[in-house]
Amino acid sequence: MKKNVIIPFLFIILVIGGGIMFWRSQQNDQVTEPQSKYTKEEQEKLDLLDNIQEKIDYFQMDDLNRYLEYKKGHPNLSVQDVVTRVNIGLDQPYYTNTKETPYLNQIYLLSNKYLYMPSDYVPENLESIASSCARSGMQLVQEAKEAFEELCQKAKEDGYVIRAMSSYRSYSYQEDLYNRYVEQDGQEEADTYSARPGFSEHQTGLVVDVDNKQIDYTDFEQTKEFKWMQENAHRFGFILRYPKDKEDITGYTYEAWHYRYVGVDIATYIHEHHMTFDEYYVQFIEGKK
Ligand SMILES: [Zn+2]
Repeated sequence: MKKNVIIPFLFIILVIGGGIMFWRSQQNDQVTEPQSKYTKEEQEKLDLLDNIQEKIDYFQMDDLNRYLEYKKGHPNLSVQDVVTRVNIGLDQPYYTNTKETPYLNQIYLLSNKYLYMPSDYVPENLESIASSCARSGMQLVQEAKEAFEELCQKAKEDGYVIRAMSSYRSYSYQEDLYNRYVEQDGQEEADTYSARPGFSEHQTGLVVDVDNKQIDYTDFEQTKEFKWMQENAHRFGFILRYPKDKEDITGYTYEAWHYRYVGVDIATYIHEHHMTFDEYYVQFIEGKK
């Protein structure tokens, strides 16, 4: 009687035990497997980049050689900055390797010297800015327009005058403007201060150039309104798009008067981290939206 019970019992224990040992050996194989994800040559290159691919999700394996090359030329940059700048495209001359920008009609649309809008792109929902806050005929995308009017109103309550003196510009308007500058100063010079048609952030309908109605907008930095904007613009979703010490990242000379709407969340993050929208875009938006 007892014998009849013990034998099947031992058999079951053997089967379960064997099963567990087999399962564990499979697990161990899986643990050791990923080491062969990169070739020896790739792993050597990744070591030179402090294996940054494990720390940031915007690392792109296809650009490994570009990262290494850029790091050689910029030994003082952190590896994270190297990856960020190569992803922006800064290892190549402006207006080379250009692409049509994705996310048209979104507030996180990026326009710079590598990303352009189609010549027939006109943002949806363009609306005129209230005349109390703008020169006549100034338009912005609805959400940006409402935010700018709130900003202008709050500034007024605080005793400041902030007026939109340039906002949405069509492709053809920018084309005329740029061609005029090229005729005047030559292309090389014109490229330092004016965007080529399709590449102007003004075509997004999310940008205002401001003044205080008294001093020329190019001297906006000298005004008390500029100080107010530095402290408050992000609360309304606007950022200073081309800051003074970031010309090598934005590709544009410092423009104290040019503000870009990106929404309160992105504007606040950028404000607090002293970064540019180009950097924010490649780290948090590109490939994720
Ligand atoms: Zn501007």
